[in-house]
This record gives sequence, C-alpha cells and structure tokens, in this order.
Amino acid sequence: MSTNGSLVTENFLRRVENVDFKLFQVSIDGPENIHDTIRGPGSFSRAIKALKLASFYLKKNVAAGSVLSRINAHCIDEILDLSHKAGADVFALMFLIPSGRATIEMYPSAEQIRTSLDAVFATYRRLSHGIRFAHNTTIPPALYPQDLMDAGINTRCALCSFPYTIAIEANGDIAPCDGFFGPYNFIAGNVRELSLKDVWGQSRVFHTARLTETFELQGVCNACHYQHFCAGGCRASAYIYKHKMNAPDPICEMLYQAGLFPANSLKENRL
Ligand code: SF4
Ligand code: SF4
Repeated sequence: MSTNGSLVTENFLRRVENVDFKLFQVSIDGPENIHDTIRGPGSFSRAIKALKLASFYLKKNVAAGSVLSRINAHCIDEILDLSHKAGADVFALMFLIPSGRATIEMYPSAEQIRTSLDAVFATYRRLSHGIRFAHNTTIPPALYPQDLMDAGINTRCALCSFPYTIAIEANGDIAPCDGFFGPYNFIAGNVRELSLKDVWGQSRVFHTARLTETFELQGVCNACHYQHFCAGGCRASAYIYKHKMNAPDPICEMLYQAGLFPANSLKENRL
C-alpha cells in the first residue's frame, strides 16, 4: 500500500493492524520545507505522523518512499535518516519517471545523482540493520557500491516487468505501463470501448511494446554487466528521453556520459 499519509489515522491502523502488508509506504519527498513545497503546507507533518503511527501499529514493513529529483537530490540521505527516526524500517528510493506532471528538466544532473547516491549509501551503512532498501527501490543494479553488491543488495532491487504490464488511466485509456501515458501514441484503446483481453492480445501498441525484448539496447546499457538482469532499466523513461524503445536508461547514460558510471559494472571495465 502506498499513501501520502494524510488519511492514515489511528482508527484506520487499528482496523488493518493484522493485515500482512508486504509494504506500507508513506511518501516523504524531503525535509519539511522541501516536502511542503512539493505537496503543500502541513503535508510533511501529516506524513511523519503517519509513519510514526504505522510503525507503532504495524511493527514492520513500514516504508518511507522518495522519488529522487533535482529538488531533493541534495538531501536524500537526510530523508533516509529522518524516516528511520520516525520509525520506518524500509526505504524505497525511486528515480523520477518523466511522465505525467514530471518532466526531463526535473532530473538531477549526473553529478547530483552520483553525490546523492554516495550520501545515501553512506547513511545506509551508518544505520546498519536499522533500515533496509525496499524491493521497489529502482536504483539501477550497476550503481550500488561494491560492498553492498557483495552483500547481494543489487540483486534484490526492483526489476521492471514491462512489456508484461498494463495500465489504465482514470479516463479509461489503456497503455503498456503508466510511463507511456502522454503524447507518445501509446494509447491502445479505452476500457469503455474495448475488452482488456482484446487489447492485451491484439493491439498494435502491445505488439510493438513486446518487440522491445528483441531489440539490442544502446548506449551504456549495451556495455553493462547487468543488461540481461535489468533489461535496461525503465523503457518508458528511455523512450521519453531519446524517442527510441532501445535507448539506454537515462540515469545510467547520464552518469556514463559524465564519466561517473562505475567502471566495474561495465563489461571489460570500459569507460
Ligand atoms: S546501464 Fe542499463 S542495464 Fe546497466 S544497470 Fe543501468 S539500466 Fe541496467
Ligand atoms: S517501463 Fe518504467 S514506468 Fe513502465 S513499468 Fe517499467 S519502470 Fe515502470
């Protein structure tokens, strides 16, 4: 379950305290000034209160969820720290997908990404076993430091199941995943007019999406040890970034172009 925390009350948590949540995630976008800039005044204190209450009633699998963007890249480690203090035992760090209201311009720079990842890994080590990365964390597997890789952390990260996904917009539009809503000609139909079964089985859009599995990935993904494990990260972000279905994942490619991609994640250590 994922929530902004504003409707998480003690009454609600008493009713669900015996539910075996795999993850009860509250969005935390930054310390108070940043979180409230993004989500409105008072939203940070409601989210932190929800984390504390959820930690008290649910005891485990209570996560803080953050999307790394230009506005909070400098304080992701601080979010991890304050979420841990509020009772979270899991941290879900996700990279921005430039669809919906998010745009490419909201990506942090390569330097900001590298610095924020280094800081968050340092805080993660300092907190030791007090908090763990959630399974829906989307840090590309090649970007973990060696000691965390040796502990197997990068093999537990979220892998995108595109093109075997389906997304339905509030207006009924259907796309291969929610990253493909928008002006990209990937709307396969509308649930008010077509059956999901027909769209899944017969639509040109879904057929095209599945062909991506046969494409050779470009850029850094082609040179990466992990390409067959993670299949090139987020295909929607790659498409929005370069307008090609086999384009490299933008985060890894930005780091590669800036000389900040880990050499030990490249085949033959080529930088
Ligand atoms: S470079 Fe591509 S294949 Fe390698 S971890 Fe990043 S997204 Fe995955
Ligand atoms: S392609 Fe990107 S937006 Fe779509 S399901 Fe995969 S990670 Fe999510």
